[in-house]
Amino acid sequence: MEKNIASYFDQFAVPAEVVSFVDRPIGHFIDGVELDTAADRIDLIEPFTRERLTSLASGTASDVDLAVASARKALVGPWGRMPPLERQRLILRLAEAMEADADVLAHLEAIDVGKAISEARTIDVAGAIANLEYFAGWTSKLDGRTTNAVALAGETLTYTVKEPVGVVAAIIPWNFPLQILSWKLAAALACGCTVVCKPSEQTPLSAMRIAHLAAKVGFPPGVINVVNGLGHVIGQALAAHRGIDKLSFTGSTPVGKAVGKTALETMKRLTLELGGKSPVIVTGNANIDNAANAILSGIFLNSGQVCDAGSRVYAHKSIHDELVHKLRSGAESLPIGAGLDPASRITPLVSSAHRTKVLDHIDSAHAEGAALVTGEPTGSDRRGDGILRPTIFDNCSENMRIFREEIFGPVLGVSHFDTIDQAIERANSADFGLAAAVYSDNVDETVQLSRRLKAGNIYINAHGLLDPTMPFGGMGASGFGKDMGPEQLDGFLSTKSVYVQVASSSAPE
Ligand code: NDP
Repeated sequence: MEKNIASYFDQFAVPAEVVSFVDRPIGHFIDGVELDTAADRIDLIEPFTRERLTSLASGTASDVDLAVASARKALVGPWGRMPPLERQRLILRLAEAMEADADVLAHLEAIDVGKAISEARTIDVAGAIANLEYFAGWTSKLDGRTTNAVALAGETLTYTVKEPVGVVAAIIPWNFPLQILSWKLAAALACGCTVVCKPSEQTPLSAMRIAHLAAKVGFPPGVINVVNGLGHVIGQALAAHRGIDKLSFTGSTPVGKAVGKTALETMKRLTLELGGKSPVIVTGNANIDNAANAILSGIFLNSGQVCDAGSRVYAHKSIHDELVHKLRSGAESLPIGAGLDPASRITPLVSSAHRTKVLDHIDSAHAEGAALVTGEPTGSDRRGDGILRPTIFDNCSENMRIFREEIFGPVLGVSHFDTIDQAIERANSADFGLAAAVYSDNVDETVQLSRRLKAGNIYINAHGLLDPTMPFGGMGASGFGKDMGPEQLDGFLSTKSVYVQVASSSAPE
């Protein structure tokens, strides 16, 4: 292990179990075991020290073939034959194992993504466990329907049967690797599917840990596989693979479109959870303290690397100045530091390359005439580490990149409006439709606005709330299909309609 990583780990007393899990070459998890046949390797960089943590197997299409074959074997074998209640018990056992391993999992997320460990504990790990617990209960409730046919002659029996869709490919981004894996895994397992997961090459650790935990609690080999490597190699191979029945992808809109086209070549079922540029409307009836706090957490959680981050604020002109003042003092008081420091809220971005992209957006906001309220100036006066200060611009408009494009970093744009109609029109002007938030203490106003906003998730007087019972997904360029909630189950099930023509019974002699 590199010197600075070792002392970083010492400073924050990283548990020995975490060190031994990361301080070794990372392979794939296929057919119940970790294996590593890779000729090529990818360096895994720790975002705070920006040193090499370890290396990751850079898989090939043959690794995908192996994983898909193993998943198929489990589907038609022990997993497919397992009674639903036993499947439920296993999923719950995995949730319990994650609970017991919560400290390790939180450390892995903080080390891999660079995120604040306090958030990793309360959001990523707790959220992933809750997903498994919720979907475990669905295993025993996936019933079809018996119908009363209305247009058929003679006596018939008509009913539907729900069956697992088959082998699922789950492609996961780097911002919430564990939580988003759990979104896909929990529902797929509940429906009786088997899974081949491809984490981002930047953040594979938690998926590998979950695969090991699942094997330990008794999941049959092949039910959960992880193939590591480059997106355009492993992700592409999964999207094109004839042995994959369903592709559940979370990531950026451009990659999602390309992956979707490939998946349709083999007529896979498809869910696309893509990017966002979520608007936030603060009316003249809002509680400004509450709005400012919620807006700050809605944009600066995970240092802004959140798909449904509220990144465009439209403030009514009557409260605009007060709101901007509060946003500024709130942003300036957010603790900045290393992901492993329990006090940190703003931490390094996932990679230097991503930080450069975010800085490019900040530079464009300066160049296009947005007014810097706080945060990163243009030019040389910048932090030398991987962290970007929470940055807020005012006087933004839709012709600026900062108000149009997904930035995926700690950058908030603010503008003001005169009438609600103007606010709605501007909020709905983006191609994306993942989330939107409204701040107002007038109930009628919140209901009306929630109806008129174009977004899959609407938050009222809050931002970024998530619950396993509630479907999450977008509209327009933010994709289609849902993760979580009972709505997600349909994506992992096939419905078969069975018609039985019953012979007419003759009267007894
Ligand atoms: P990317 O689209 O770059 O990558 C997403 C996943 O796809 C990664 O595992 C990546 O692998 C893989 N991938 C990359 N290229 C290909 C390819 N050609 N074929 C198949 N798979 C490929 O997104 P990011 O990881 O950068 O994540 C950020 C994006 O995710 C943002 O746009 C964000 O809004 C969105 N997101 C959406 C969410 C939602 O629920 N709607 C939730 C969270 C994030 P690798 O990393 O190894 O290249």
